[in-house]
Amino acid sequence: MRLGLAANKLHHANENAALFRWLRACETGIRELRLGLHAVGRTHDAIAAAGMLRGYEPLKRYPYGRDGGLMKLVAEVVGLEGAERNLDGAIYFIDPVDPSSVFPEATALKRQCVIHGKPFLSTVASARDWIEMERIHAGFAPDPGADGFHAFEAQTLALIAHDAMKPRMLEFADTHFDLLSRFQRRVATGTTGQRLNELAWSRGWPADKPWAVRYHSGPMGGDAQIADLVLEGRCQRAIFFEDPHVARQHEADIQLLERAVTTVTDQAVCSTSPLVAQRWAEAAKRRARLRE
Ligand code: PGA
Repeated sequence: MRLGLAANKLHHANENAALFRWLRACETGIRELRLGLHAVGRTHDAIAAAGMLRGYEPLKRYPYGRDGGLMKLVAEVVGLEGAERNLDGAIYFIDPVDPSSVFPEATALKRQCVIHGKPFLSTVASARDWIEMERIHAGFAPDPGADGFHAFEAQTLALIAHDAMKPRMLEFADTHFDLLSRFQRRVATGTTGQRLNELAWSRGWPADKPWAVRYHSGPMGGDAQIADLVLEGRCQRAIFFEDPHVARQHEADIQLLERAVTTVTDQAVCSTSPLVAQRWAEAAKRRARLRE
């Protein structure tokens, strides 16, 4: 497996920056998985200067951002001829006030990950959670350091699906109903929440209780309301099934929510496509059995 890797300047500026917090938590897992890391120039150089991933051959250097490093990652997420030029997803540690985080190549990187059902990991928590998930799929024993990401009974989960994706969300919730029901609380945008509650009631969830607490519908500000929960540390995981193929009247709100998670980068995990969410759910169930 290979992931693109980039971090905004703040996130590799000193030894306690996000990139290094992630590497310190996950270096063992990265080596166990032999994970390819295709890093844009400055991010690569910061890792080397910090003396991390020493002698790790799957760490590759790409050009600097200004020379097209991030653009190359986008093309390789889409896929180019030859196995060498295909990425399975991307880690992009975003600093929401860094202007380069909204450059077209940054937006395209996320969009092409979503379109191709590949992980787009924009926070330290998302990238840590992903490594543990892949370790579990690969048959490694659970890392106790990742227990916090699986303490669902103390967490709030946000579920959001654009119109064309609502059937996939319902299918996902139906398949993994017991796992999702373990969260202390579920929140959702208005219409998604209504559909999810109907599903839950049809499965015997108490009729006087919503399964998911509903906020406004997306276009009426639901994403912004849920973003505020994230900012306040009251929502630790968002599963967002975006429809990248339509123009969205509330594009700004969608971006706002996706950037809110990056402001609390160590706490909030965000999954952006059904394939990625599915893979997470399967790993979470398997890990729970292993930890019993
Ligand atoms: P909805 O909002 O669940 O109210 O449809 C989701 C969205 O469109 O952002």
